[in-house]
Order: sequence, then C-alpha cells, then structure tokens
Amino acid sequence: MGKPTGFMEFSRELPPELASLQRIRNWDEFHLPFDEPKLRSQGARCMDCGTPFCHTGQVLAGAASGCPINNLIPEWNDLVYRGKWDEALERLHKTNNFPEFTGRVCPAPCEGACVLGIIQPPVTIKNIECAIADRGWENGWIVAQPPPVRTGKKVAVVGSGPAGLSCAAQLNHAGHLVTVYERANRIGGLLMYGIPNMKLDKSVVQRRVDLLAKEGVKFVTGCEVGRDLPAGKLLEDFDGSVLCGGATKPRDLPVEGRNLKGIHFAMEFLTANTKSLLDSAHKNGGYISAKDKDVIVIGGGDTGTDCVGTSLRHGCRNVTQLEILPKPPESRPGDNPWPQWPRIFRVDYGQEEAAAVQGEDPRRYRTTVLRFVGDEHGHVKGVRTVLVDWQTDAQGRFTPVHVPGTEQTLSAQLILLAMGFLGPEDTILDQLEITRDPRTNAKAEYGRFATNVKGVFAAGDMRRGQSLVVWAINEGRAAAREVDRYLMGQTNLP
Ligand SMILES: Cc1cc2nc3c(=O)[nH]c(=O)nc-3n(C[C@H](O)[C@H](O)[C@H](O)COP(=O)(O)OP(=O)(O)OC[C@H]3O[C@@H](n4cnc5c(N)ncnc54)[C@H](O)[C@@H]3O)c2cc1C
Ligand code: SF4
Repeated sequence: MGKPTGFMEFSRELPPELASLQRIRNWDEFHLPFDEPKLRSQGARCMDCGTPFCHTGQVLAGAASGCPINNLIPEWNDLVYRGKWDEALERLHKTNNFPEFTGRVCPAPCEGACVLGIIQPPVTIKNIECAIADRGWENGWIVAQPPPVRTGKKVAVVGSGPAGLSCAAQLNHAGHLVTVYERANRIGGLLMYGIPNMKLDKSVVQRRVDLLAKEGVKFVTGCEVGRDLPAGKLLEDFDGSVLCGGATKPRDLPVEGRNLKGIHFAMEFLTANTKSLLDSAHKNGGYISAKDKDVIVIGGGDTGTDCVGTSLRHGCRNVTQLEILPKPPESRPGDNPWPQWPRIFRVDYGQEEAAAVQGEDPRRYRTTVLRFVGDEHGHVKGVRTVLVDWQTDAQGRFTPVHVPGTEQTLSAQLILLAMGFLGPEDTILDQLEITRDPRTNAKAEYGRFATNVKGVFAAGDMRRGQSLVVWAINEGRAAAREVDRYLMGQTNLP
C-alpha cells in the first residue's frame, strides 16, 4: 500500500488547465504539467482496499462501475507513490493496450466506484494513468515488441477504432498476421475522427498506430469492406475475421424543416473539422464553419459537448445546447448509491468554455424541438422549441409531455444533431449474412464474440452499440482471445 495516512494528509488535486478563454484560441490539449511530488501524493491517497471496487468493472444499474478492463489500479497507485514509474507502466500495459487514450478520454467509472469516494473525493485514478503512460512515451520505455514467432495464421480486422486496434495488437502479440481495414484515410476510428484534437491530440493516436505497424500489424486505409473489397473475400483470404466497424448510424430528428441547409449530423461537423485541421491547419476550408453563427447543438452528451468546444474554437457568435432530459442533481440521489456510476450534474470542458465566453452554461434542459425555421433561401434561421415535463404513462414509461405556453424560437444558422447512434451500418453485415440482435447490432454473445458465421467475430460498438473507448478496448482484447482459441485450439492471451 502507498502511504497508510495518505488519504487523510492529501486532498484530491488535478493538474491545472489553461484558462478557457486562452485555450479556445487553438486546438491543442489544455492540461498543464503537474509536478512529480504532486502526482506521487495523489497516488498516496489510494488505500489499497481489500476489495478494490475501482478495478472490478461490472455493469450496475445500466452503467459501468469500476474499470471495464480491470486495470490493476491499487498496484500502480502504490508504484507511483514510490516513484517506480517504469514498473507502474508495466502493470498498466498488462490490462490496457492504450492507457494514453483512456487516461485522456475515459469518463473514469473507476473513480465513481473508488471506495475513498464514500467519504471524500475519489483518488485521481484517470490522471495518474495518463501520467504513467505519458512518462513511458517521454522516457522511451514504450517500444515496438514484435512477436518472436509467427503462427502463419491470417486475421482480418475491419475498423480501426479502439476495438479494432486493441484486437489487432493482441492478435499480433500472439503471432498471427493481422491486417486492419479502415475506410477512412487515417487509422483510429472515433479516436481519430470523432473525439476532437483538444481532448485527444491526434499525434498521440498516430504514435501508437506507428508502433503497431512496427510490430507487424498491416494497415489498409481507404478501403471499405463491403464496397471496395467484397466482404466474402474475408472468408476466402483469412483464417479468421473480427468486425469492429462501430455504431455509426446517427439518430435523426425528422421534424418540419429538417431538409433546410445548415442542419448537420454532429459527426459530419466533427470529422470534417479534424480532417481539415490535420490536412492543412484548416487552410483548405474543407470543414463546416461555425464562425460568426448562432449554433444550436441538439443533444447533451459527449458528442454534443465536442460540438460546443469545436464551435467556440471556430469563433461562433453564440452556442446553445439543448437537452431533453431534466438537469441532473448536484450530488448522488438516494437511488444512485456508491459504487454505481454517479448520475450527477457535471461541467465538461465545452460547457466550461461556453460559460467563460457567454457568461452562462450553454445547456437548456427539458427542451425539445418542434420544428426548424428557414429563410427565403432554404437555409435554417431558427429552431422552435418547447419545454417538456417528464411523466409516467399508463405503461409505466417515463415520457416527455409538452408544456403549453413554453414555445420559443431560438435564432440559429447552424444546427448540429448529436442525439446518439442507432447501431452499425448494414452493408458488411448483410453481405456476410450476420444475424443481428434486437437493437440491430451484430449478434455475438459477450465473452465468446463469435457471430453466426464460422470464423467471423464482432467486438466494440458494432456488437454492443454506442459505448465508451474503454469498453471497446475490453471487447477488442477479449475477442482477440477468442479468435486465438479458435485458430490454435487454446490461448494464452490475457
Ligand atoms: C464525438 C464522439 C465523442 C466521444 N467521446 C468519447 C469520450 O470522450 N470517451 C469515451 O470513452 N468514449 C467516447 N465516445 C465513444 C467512443 O468513441 C466509442 O465508443 C468507441 O470509439 C467505439 O470504438 P469501436 O472501435 O467499436 O468503433 P469506432 O471507434 O467507431 O471505429 C469504427 C471504425 O470502423 C470503420 N469502418 C466501419 N465500417 C467499415 C467497413 N465496412 N470497412 C472498413 N472500415 C469500416 C469506421 O470508419 C471507423 O473508423 C465518443 C463518441 C463520439 C461519436
Ligand atoms: S477503490 Fe480507490 S482507494 Fe481503494 S484501491 Fe481503488 S483507487 Fe485505491
């Protein structure tokens, strides 16, 4: 254990951040350096619990409680406290192929389940994870480790998000020859073209992709399996395949005026923005600009927040985020006890920035859209909204009911739809005749990951629906284990 009295001596502390008004001037990550003694004293707060709920990784009340990839959190907290960073990194890599990604973007269900959280703010697990990984890269401890022996088996991975990459990394370590197909021009899935640069710098993603390539993983970009390569070729050319294509079908808002110009899905906005940033530092103009516009983001989740942060960096006139659900409570309500994920009010980076620019949080709760309003050129100029009351209907379902007299028109020249995703696209699944589950995801039992087609496995958002990076890593690793067992009759993969 770290320091037995650590949690009594030190308060929770996170690294400082660049002030909102400064950081929105560019697309860089905005966490400032945190000195080593501070990090070590944060590690010292860990109590090395007999039952470390932080690393249990189970689903409670519909959300992750504890780390879904079972990171050995108390072990590396202790090692950080003692200054043994290289050993901490080794422990971290035992369960997580990409700690520098989760250390930046994970919502940290580990912290929601931390035992210290019952009486005090939890241990800063996510930040410690990120610091260990970053230190590993800075010190050159993370180097290519190609497998000593090749099995001669060939595996195709379709999709290069965190599920596909972790699966490829594990299968490659087991000695199989892995080819990753990605339809985009860059590898990384939503790590590259979803989560914006200020949250996860793209050089951090590319660095890991380059390392995997050095270890022997073959990447084919600009190739959509099912269109550029018939899906059936996977069955002919490979001994096994893993489908990690994500859940990319966006939820639409089919109300009056939806066809007006200036209404876009969030991913059109975010993808084009990052691509233009990486291709030309935005000089090619190949993105949807929010500059000098009133922007309305519909959807209060992570994707919506990324749209807010991106719009502010473009120099929008104003940004508003509409959320149909009520504002969450400030602290855990009685029906959401520890160690469940705390469903409480949070201010993420985008809202913090909007508040700094506009003087108030951009979110409007219990608000839904009645219709979009256009101008004489067919361009959106506003949105008609109404407040809702959440009531329980005759079947016991929680249902939004419009509140009479609360209609309002908000000005908007750019509308971004960020209301979640409905499931995977059909082409590849149809061509391979993969059975679907009731939510249209690829049907493959968790733990086995095998689909109804022999030798074809599925993992990540394509199998479980829209989720988190850490679950994608969990599934990619676990599917690799099952593929290895399928190919070799047994497996030693963790
Ligand atoms: C804007 C946004 C922000 C998010 N922020 C966070 C966050 O902060 N923290 C967090 O934990 N989670 C976040 N998420 C969720 C997280 O990114 C996903 O759960 C995760 O990336 C899923 O990983 P995946 O590998 O299953 O799929 P994806 O990351 O979606 O990758 C799938 C890849 O497959 C490719 N593909 C699909 N079909 C084919 C085909 N037929 N041939 C070739 N390639 C194909 C796609 O182009 C894509 O690159 C966010 C999601 C979005 C949309
Ligand atoms: S639950 Fe919190 S205090 Fe306990 S071992 Fe995990 S990180 Fe440390």
